[in-house]
Parts: sequence; C-alpha cells; structure tokens
Amino acid sequence: MNSPTAPQSHLMQTYARQPVAFSHGEGAWLWDTDGKKYLDALAGIAVSGLGHNHPRLVKAIAEQAARVIHTSNLFRIPEQEALADRLCELSGMQEVFFCNSGAEANEAAIKLARYIGIKNGNPAPEIIVMERAWHGRTIATLAATDSPKAKQGFGELPGGFVRVPYRDFAAIEAAAASHPHVNAVLLEVLQGEGGVNMAENEYLQRLRALCDAKGWLLMIDEVQSGIGRTGTWFGYQHSGVKPDVVTLAKGLGSGVPIGACLAAGPAAGVFTPGTHGTTFGGGPLVCAAAIATLQAMDEEGLLRNAAEMGAYIRAGMTRELAGVAGVREIRGQGLMIGIELLRPCGVLVARALEKGLIMNVTRDSVVRLLPPLVLKRPDADFLIATLAALIKEFLSEPVSA
Ligand SMILES: *Cc1c(COP(=O)(O)O)cnc(C)c1O
Repeated sequence: MNSPTAPQSHLMQTYARQPVAFSHGEGAWLWDTDGKKYLDALAGIAVSGLGHNHPRLVKAIAEQAARVIHTSNLFRIPEQEALADRLCELSGMQEVFFCNSGAEANEAAIKLARYIGIKNGNPAPEIIVMERAWHGRTIATLAATDSPKAKQGFGELPGGFVRVPYRDFAAIEAAAASHPHVNAVLLEVLQGEGGVNMAENEYLQRLRALCDAKGWLLMIDEVQSGIGRTGTWFGYQHSGVKPDVVTLAKGLGSGVPIGACLAAGPAAGVFTPGTHGTTFGGGPLVCAAAIATLQAMDEEGLLRNAAEMGAYIRAGMTRELAGVAGVREIRGQGLMIGIELLRPCGVLVARALEKGLIMNVTRDSVVRLLPPLVLKRPDADFLIATLAALIKEFLSEPVSA
C-alpha cells in the first residue's frame, strides 16, 4: 500500500485530501496507519451512524455476502422488499425506489416530479429549490444545488429549477405567482453542506399547506438529516409535515452505498416498468446492511442518544465559547451541529486532526460536527474540550492577510 503522503498520481485530483489513512475503527474512534487514535466527529460525512466495526452490521454484511451479493432487479429481492416495508413504516411513505447515492435519489425525485407534471398536461414542469441547497453532483442535481464553486466550469446546466431564499415563505408565494409551471418544491429541512441551516416548523407547515393548495409535490431531501441523525428517524418529523417524496442515502447503509427515493400520495404508483432503474440499486448486500442499521438504531436507542448527545454538545460548546469574540452562532439539531465563526476557519480541520479529532468545515466559516449516533458521554467531553480549545486559540490569532 502507498503511504498516505505519497503522491496519488493515478487518481483524478477531485479531492483535497488530508494526508492520513485509517486502518481500523471501533465505535466513534478510528486509528490511522501509524497507530494514532482519533475521535470521529464526521462519521464519513454523516454516513457511519453506527460508528465503526459495529458487530451487528459486520455480521449482517458477512452473512449476506456468504449467501448472495447481487442478482439484479430483474428478480425479486427479499432483502429489498423487507427494507422498503421498514422504511415506509418509519416514514409514513408508501413505496421506495432504491439506488446507490444521494445524488441518484434526488435524480429519481426530479424525474418523478417531471414525469408527473408531463403526465398531467404540464408541458414544462419546474421545481422550486433553495438558496444554499445541496442535492448532488450529477448534471441535474448540480443544477438543483446552489454552490457556485461546484457548478463552476460545467457550462449551462439543465433548466426546470426556480431558486428562492431558504426559509422565506413569501418568496415561494412570489415564485408561485410568476412561474405557473411549478409542480414541486425540493428542500432540505436542515441544510448540511449549506452551513447547517434549519427550517422552522411553521415554515414547513405553511409550505405543506401551499403545496396542497397548488397541487405541488413536497419533496424533502433527507440524504444528510435522515436515519436518526437529528434525533428522529427523519428531520421532517420534528414539524409533523407529511412529504410526498423523501430522498435518503448517507446514513442508510452505514457505509455501503445505498440511496432511496420514497413516495406517497400523488407521487406513489407513478413509475412503471421501464420508466426508471439502475443496475446495482437495492441489491441484497446493501439492503441487508441497511436493515441491520435500522434494527441496531431501534434496539440501542440511538435516536434518543443522538438527541441527548447533540443537546449536550451544543450546551457544552455554548458554555466553553461564552463571551469568545468571533463566534457567530452554535446551532443544529441532534448530531448535526454547526458552529459558525465570523471568519473562514478551514485551517481548523488539519489542526483538529493533529489533536486527534476528525471534523469538517463547510461554507468556509462553519465548523460542522456529524459524529456517529453511538457517541458516548466521554467521547462528547473529549470533543467539546478539544474543539473549544482549538476555536479559542484560532480566534485569538491576528487575522492573516
Ligand atoms: C451528500 C448529500 C447529497 C448527495 O449525496 P451523494 O451520495 O454524495 O451523491 C444530496 N443531498 C444532501 C442533502 C446531501 O447532504
């Protein structure tokens, strides 16, 4: 194996990687190839909810691999059917399409909205999307995403999206008045890449009522906020709204690639054989991993743990950073936490690694924490102490030119 500092000459240089590689993990902790230990407060970007080396997950994957890994969607897949049953039970949705990533889950949602619009005689359906939204990097989901950096250099992207400010209900009403072909709204209830921004319950409830009045689909991207991360199975459950379409990926398979597009009401029963598909989607191996993930979360009380540990970390950071100049806001829900500083703080990622803490910075100035849902009290104490010290030190430094 190459050393982590060797030039990665045969890889497309699509990532600015830290010069660290991990050899194994246990719970919320990872060890690098030199034997150094780190608290994982990123969980592979909200993926490893069960932490690392979770016995039930490892067993489920090993046992499924020994039975059958892949057969294709040309046949029935019992594990896929069981997972769909469980997801519908937890979400209140009616049916599921399985794919392999968050972008593909949103791609399915976008296709579904367009298909329904056209079927209903709308010649050019449009989807309302939000400022600071993140929905993926395929051509269509990139068009729905609001990141100039991610879009830069790819030319004209597909149309069919109407962008409005996040959490601004009047802006949606105005868009409705000026765009008669809109038939859906796609949004995150808690934006992740966009800086950990939370929509209020009242906004979501009014949006639901507007969608009902207009006959629009309410499509919620839960790729990052779903699967227990915010303390409920899905982020929208805090507000009581019932979406028509929900997309999932990240935490669903605990690290095996699986995405899902869930539909209900007017969005259910629409796709028929031949309208959409993918070779790998919902195979036996990834579905067994997802079923084990949901079971473990249930039986180990991980939703409650996410809510409690999240509140504990936010309270701890608020206490440690009280009165520190340069901290704009500490926010989030469950174990999706943002600490916004008044200046860009990307250097903190490498400094935290140095101190044995894995975390992330998004939108230049927001420290983002996405620890595994198995996080324990002592882990949280280490996180709070290490991160607070780093932030205080950083903010005491003169602003570099
Ligand atoms: C990560 C993310 C995506 C894209 O998922 P990929 O698996 O990277 O394609 C879409 N939506 C949200 C909210 C995300 O956080």
